[in-house]
Amino acid sequence: KSKQQNGSSYSFSTPKQSLEMERYYLLQREMEQALDLNEFFLVYQPLVNLETNVTEGAEVLLRWNNAKFGFVPPTEFIPLLEETGQIISVGNWILRSACKQVQDWKDLGFPLKKLSVNVSPVQFRDQEFVRDVEAILNDTNLDPSCLELEITEGVLLNVEVSRKVLLQLKDLGVNISIDDFGTGYSSLSYLKHLPVDTIKIDKSFISELDSDGEVLVNTIINMGHNLHFTVIAEGIETEKQLTYLQQQNCQKGQGYIFSKPLKAQEFLRYLFRFEALTK
Ligand code: C2E
Ligand code: MG
Ligand code: MG
Ligand code: MG
Repeated sequence: KSKQQNGSSYSFSTPKQSLEMERYYLLQREMEQALDLNEFFLVYQPLVNLETNVTEGAEVLLRWNNAKFGFVPPTEFIPLLEETGQIISVGNWILRSACKQVQDWKDLGFPLKKLSVNVSPVQFRDQEFVRDVEAILNDTNLDPSCLELEITEGVLLNVEVSRKVLLQLKDLGVNISIDDFGTGYSSLSYLKHLPVDTIKIDKSFISELDSDGEVLVNTIINMGHNLHFTVIAEGIETEKQLTYLQQQNCQKGQGYIFSKPLKAQEFLRYLFRFEALTK
């Protein structure tokens, strides 16, 4: 198209594309050292029981503050980590650090019922994955029933492999949740045949609750409950959304209405404040 517009250029990429490519390679180079340079850190977003309003858990999310590029959003750097395979070592670092953190909070008198950790499809398909999870649980002494691994619907496309890995993970005693539910390919009736505990309704559906999006959310919640899944709503931002979800008996939620993801110190302060309020 651009060729016809300016009539002369036969280059293979538009200027915008080549800028993107340059950024891509530069970021990739910076990322090789990010773990060693302590540029990665973790933030924790409260997971709230919508019936009791109690914060029962946290989802851990990765952040990258690079010396040259500053904060790079996960939606940009996670795919890079996946393409280079670094997501395996970084993923293990995330899991180990978060499990340790939750044990530290427990020792301080703030036990969490659930720690949710995102698992990339690349990690999930790695031969060592189940063994890595097992080793980290052993080393950190975290109760496996406190750990929930979030996978996306895409990894379930290969039914045989995913079923085998999921069963091995269930044997370790951990929970499985389906992240971004509704954006992928799977149906709830299909999930019924897999050892899945929780579905997380994607935030795009929650934001539509402000403009007549109730039917879809309602359907996911009701079908989810009929199939004995715990249903979590992600990305709750408004009172209107929260009230609706509570009326529909959606069990858990997370979103800016409760808190944005917090650094470990801030998360502890959040728990402390909350504890003070409920006593
Ligand atoms: P996700 O797992 O679905 O995580 C939820 C995302 O929604 C997070 O974005 C969170 O900050 C954001 N969020 C939470 N509440 C709200 C809200 O009320 N409104 C809006 N608009 N957003 C909200 P984040 O941290 O930018 O992460 C984006 C995605 O990157 C994650 O989506 C996940 O797929 C991936 N990611 C982040 N951390 C990790 C990680 O440690 N490992 C892996 N494999 N992927 C990760
Ligand atoms: Mg997630
Ligand atoms: Mg996700
Ligand atoms: Mg999600």
